[in-house]
Amino acid sequence: MGQKALKRFLKGAAGVRTWLLTVLSIIGVAMLASVAAQAAPPVARIVDVRIGGDGKATRVVVESDAPLSYHVFLLAAGSHRVVIDLPRVRWSIAGLTSEAGSGKGKGVISGYRYAQNTATTSRLVLDLSKPALVARDYALAPKDGGGKHQLVFDLEPATAEQFAQAAIGDMSGPKPVTHQTSRKPLIVIDPGHGGKDPGASSKGGLHEKDITLAAALALRDQLLATERYDVALTRSTDVFIELEDRVTKARNLGADLFIALHADAGPKPATSGASVYTLSPEGEKRIDGARKKNDWILDVEVDSKRPEEVKQILADLVQRETKNQSAKFAAMVADGLTKSGWPILENTHRKKSLFVLLSPDVPAALLEMGFMTNDSDVTALTSEAKRKKLVRTVADAIDAFFDGQAQVLAAR
Ligand SMILES: [Zn+2]
Repeated sequence: MGQKALKRFLKGAAGVRTWLLTVLSIIGVAMLASVAAQAAPPVARIVDVRIGGDGKATRVVVESDAPLSYHVFLLAAGSHRVVIDLPRVRWSIAGLTSEAGSGKGKGVISGYRYAQNTATTSRLVLDLSKPALVARDYALAPKDGGGKHQLVFDLEPATAEQFAQAAIGDMSGPKPVTHQTSRKPLIVIDPGHGGKDPGASSKGGLHEKDITLAAALALRDQLLATERYDVALTRSTDVFIELEDRVTKARNLGADLFIALHADAGPKPATSGASVYTLSPEGEKRIDGARKKNDWILDVEVDSKRPEEVKQILADLVQRETKNQSAKFAAMVADGLTKSGWPILENTHRKKSLFVLLSPDVPAALLEMGFMTNDSDVTALTSEAKRKKLVRTVADAIDAFFDGQAQVLAAR
């Protein structure tokens, strides 16, 4: 897309939209620099490891004098551990040795250990007193002038089973993006909401966050059963995760496809059905379902108050083929749902804010599976049989999407 077309897109998108998809606020965080440092000399000095919190939430802050890339994952063998791999660093923590050492823990962390791991990497191991998941992890640059770079890890207690799942799936956080052709495509499923954010609620007091998690777990099982994919969830328990963290996670994991699951709320109890969203290449184009009247709309509203550089980032994004891929996938989901007889949303003329979880290099779509405010939708969404049918349809669409990609690659 040229600059002119782009401007038209940005302008047009800001105009007559009835659906509002706000994406810009999350892009900045997705852009967090990840500094690859492979050289053997230390790239930074770790000056402090601070651990705070209680049995409910434990925060680990790793302070360094230079920015650091990192890879966090869970190890279940023997005992419960959280492992943070870093490029080679110099350990310079007051009162502790510089080569390899250990310190005291707090909350769910009984203690920590550090050492050089390989010629080019250093490792920080958090020993857990009980199973816990990394609910959030992010890097912070120093606030204006001076200050230290920080890596922040928030741990929340989990069951042993949840820990084992996460350890196997390695969904705990960023790792270097790899593009090996031999690996299986990685599907990242994002169950909407969670923890303190219940999402929409039904008359009977059911929460969207539980519906989305159940569907995500069912979809994961369905996908793993095909043995075609690796699957990671942005959350596999009832925890709150910031939108930007979900996106960052998908991106850092090197996701090949990102699918967010939600359930809608409407002003009228009669409003029902599923809908699929993504960013369309033209910002205007509808994704046609099998039925002509369906408005599978993917609209973007660009907030004109946003700073210019953010617009520029968006400009870069919309040029990418990712958008085409996202639209293609969304169309396949829409098509599958229609054919399977799943109820589809017909009326789109309502205003609502939606966050599309967008990463510039990951095809992404958001599926509103139905309405929490509609009785028959809730019945369908809480029925295990129907949920299975729904995720089967989505899994089929994912198959079709990657079949199509394989054909494209074969034709090259
Ligand atoms: Zn939602």
